[in-house]
Amino acid sequence: MKIIERLFGHTNKKEAVPIFYGRRAKDEEMETILEDTEVYSCIGDSCIGWMRKDFVADDLLCPMCGNEMTQEIRVLPKI
Ligand SMILES: [Zn+2]
Repeated sequence: MKIIERLFGHTNKKEAVPIFYGRRAKDEEMETILEDTEVYSCIGDSCIGWMRKDFVADDLLCPMCGNEMTQEIRVLPKI
């Protein structure tokens, strides 16, 4: 009985919630590693097209509008 009291006797909602979110945040932090990534982004003013360097097409043209793209560095989740 004493063991059960120690495990659950003082566990109320106010204590349990921060523990739950603390674990969840740690898991997400481990999954999302940000790193500087070379990308090509579209030169078109109205276009948001860009691609990671590893996946860019051979002709270096924007997959969304066909404009040329320029190389830049973005901080992106590691893949
Ligand atoms: Zn474009």
